[in-house]
Amino acid sequence: MVKVRFAPSPTGYLHIGGARTCLFNWLYARHMQGKFILRIEDTDVQRSKKEYLDEILESIRWLGMDWDEIYYQSQRFDLYQQYAQKLIDAGKAYKREGAVFFKYEFAKIEINDLIRGQIVFTELPKEEEVIIKSDGSPTYNFSCVVDDALMGLTLIIRGEDHISNTPKQILMYNALGLTTPDFAHVPLILSPDGGRLSKRFGATSIREYKEEGYLSQALANYLTLLSWSPGNNREIISLRETCEIFDIKHVNKTGAEFSLDKLSWINSEYIKATNVKDLSKTLTDYLAGKNFLPAHTQEEYLEKVILLFHDRLTKLSDFIDRARFCFYDDYGYADDTREILQKNLSKEITALTQAMTGLQEFTKVTIETEFRATATRVGLKTKDLVHPVRVALTGKRVGPGLFETMEVLGKQEVVKRLNRLITYWQSV
Ligand code: GLU
Repeated sequence: MVKVRFAPSPTGYLHIGGARTCLFNWLYARHMQGKFILRIEDTDVQRSKKEYLDEILESIRWLGMDWDEIYYQSQRFDLYQQYAQKLIDAGKAYKREGAVFFKYEFAKIEINDLIRGQIVFTELPKEEEVIIKSDGSPTYNFSCVVDDALMGLTLIIRGEDHISNTPKQILMYNALGLTTPDFAHVPLILSPDGGRLSKRFGATSIREYKEEGYLSQALANYLTLLSWSPGNNREIISLRETCEIFDIKHVNKTGAEFSLDKLSWINSEYIKATNVKDLSKTLTDYLAGKNFLPAHTQEEYLEKVILLFHDRLTKLSDFIDRARFCFYDDYGYADDTREILQKNLSKEITALTQAMTGLQEFTKVTIETEFRATATRVGLKTKDLVHPVRVALTGKRVGPGLFETMEVLGKQEVVKRLNRLITYWQSV
């Protein structure tokens, strides 16, 4: 049975590079019906923080993954000591000033990387290396080898930035007489300018993407597309379906360019494909920590508001800005509406207010018919009435279809807001 692992260090949050490595490991394990384990590399007691660990685990779950086993390296120090002692006993390592040094016996090393093909290492930068520090903690290469071997891992899927560690680790497997697993080095994610990902370009934590209002399914979909493709130019694919067809050998060798536009497009597609009930639940959870929805908001009302914006949302956070007027009437009229409000239409709007008040049924269709009739009666083109009314009801120049918006707000609210515009005209 195949067994792979994701081995994050809880010295920082989970970023998109790590998340993608995790996804590839998980997809491989689930596709092969093998095991996926998490190994927390918390050997650096000073820099490892619970806050980071919690975020890493939460983000992995949020992205839709689960794990079969979890280990913490900080609980395994005795084991590393034991294996270091084996090397000392065999004359392959020695102690100096409390630290244990491993002596590399270099030989040409070849690996058959599942993604990159044959890689040949002809030299090592070092002749020896600390494997246990004087404080008793192991260094990365050593604890990694001991654990990868003892945990029975069959394949190591990790970032390309670890390639230079691979020959060192192979020499340690050899020295310990342990079986070396296979390797698959995943290419780096690059920023749009071709360099490494930076804070400016995408190198933010998964939690930040969540906060920004990206859906977990959309982000997971996008991350797998960085270096992998389901073929046929297909881009929208669920994690479940990816599991069925994922083959680590089909991961690209070349670096993948991160594109926020692409991620946003995928996100908007997922939002569109989510039905209103589910989106309402997702949005409610999303908005919960943001103190946005008034306490008395009815589910039915929220769903109506969502329908107004459903096709136009790129991120959930867009909802906060765009739909605010549906929950609050304390807005001022935006600066760019000045031109629209220049002409005082108090008389015409008063006529409209009366016409609206008289409507028995307040639906998009009845509103539109009455609206158009009123415009004609007061000698205006419909659009000349639409613009100021939109400003009155939303505070903004642009927004969703006006008649739908009016239906959602309801008669009382519409009349109140129209009167507010009339009062505004009186005050200027
Ligand atoms: N803790 C290491 C890292 O986060 C793991 C590297 C590996 O997968 O071997 O980079």
